[in-house]
Amino acid sequence: MKIAIIGAGVAGMTCAVEFAERGAAVEIFEQAQGFGPKSCSWYAGGMLSPWCEYEHSAELIAEFGEQSLAWWTKRVPTVVRQGSLVLAHGRYSSELVAFSRRTTRYEELDAAAIGELEPALKGRFLRALFFRDEAHVDPRKALRSLADRVIALGGRIHFGVTCADQSTNDRLVIDCTGWAARHHLKDLRGVKGEMLLLRSKEVTLRRPVRLLDPRIPAYIVPRPDGVFMVGATMIESEDASRITARSMVELLSAACSLHPAFAEAEVLEIGAQVRPAFPDNMPRIVWRRDRIHINGFYRHGFLLAPAFACMAADAVLNGERSSQVEYEDCA
Ligand SMILES: Cc1cc2nc3c(=O)[nH]c(=O)nc-3n(C[C@H](O)[C@H](O)[C@H](O)COP(=O)(O)OP(=O)(O)OC[C@H]3O[C@@H](n4cnc5c(N)ncnc54)[C@H](O)[C@@H]3O)c2cc1C
Repeated sequence: MKIAIIGAGVAGMTCAVEFAERGAAVEIFEQAQGFGPKSCSWYAGGMLSPWCEYEHSAELIAEFGEQSLAWWTKRVPTVVRQGSLVLAHGRYSSELVAFSRRTTRYEELDAAAIGELEPALKGRFLRALFFRDEAHVDPRKALRSLADRVIALGGRIHFGVTCADQSTNDRLVIDCTGWAARHHLKDLRGVKGEMLLLRSKEVTLRRPVRLLDPRIPAYIVPRPDGVFMVGATMIESEDASRITARSMVELLSAACSLHPAFAEAEVLEIGAQVRPAFPDNMPRIVWRRDRIHINGFYRHGFLLAPAFACMAADAVLNGERSSQVEYEDCA
């Protein structure tokens, strides 16, 4: 079967790998000249945190997230499985209790255990929750790994091409254009996310750390070479053009309150993008006569895209019906 995938964000690339692995002839069309800032995926933290995300998500997120975690681990060599850590300063310790009630699959750590796991945080926090089974990826490297895999499986990627430029009559079109598909998916909304990339020679972290704070919840994800992604705001806004001064101050404050040495870090990058989200914040596969849309990944594109790619492949290649696939205008 021939498949044309529009959009090379995480939704498109995971789909491309899944369909190619099952023997389909896959071509991807991406409007940008390469992987980069036109996609929401470029700015993601890359956290694969099914159990932390229980905090504000449906139960299905954990189930699909666990499946996706296994998918990533099998295919992408740079997945880091060191768990994730959730912390709060003493005055916000009730936040940690509330978080623990809304989540699952964690261990409670005391100050000594925190220092053993993350020496840089020794003596700074009294209690933490440790989600041992969680993982993270560097999204930019992960997209490139998926591209290598698609090409090795015989697929092709065309950058600098929009779907309008391509005749797709002889193949099934899978639209993974994220926020750009809003004119076709009318209840899709945008949730702005802002982030920073910092470099510090003084701080070392092995795993993502979430800092609970009722005013400024934030997280820091370590990447190689002393780079840290600090994220992310959640603003009901469809304007991705700028990060605001307030958001920048808040993200930097969160980083410095985790470790004061972040005050001396280099600011490598400032970014903002719009997360595509449906009203229930769950992704959907919408099968229409002329194309299939896979969209609405909200804050869970890396966490959930593989599970949805598998569901789409099951539906298309095996005719399997799943509760996550909506059929519209189909015979
Ligand atoms: C700051 C931030 C932090 C985040 N952190 C995490 C995290 O830690 N974990 C997690 O799981 N998720 C995270 N997310 C969410 C995640 O990034 C999104 O859910 C995900 O990137 C959405 O992927 P997508 O492929 O649907 O869309 P996109 O990544 O936006 O990809 C869509 C692609 O389609 C292309 N395109 C659009 N129109 C056309 C066209 N006509 N023709 C060809 N190409 C087209 C675009 O150029 C783009 O490359 C975060 C998001 C943000 C903003």
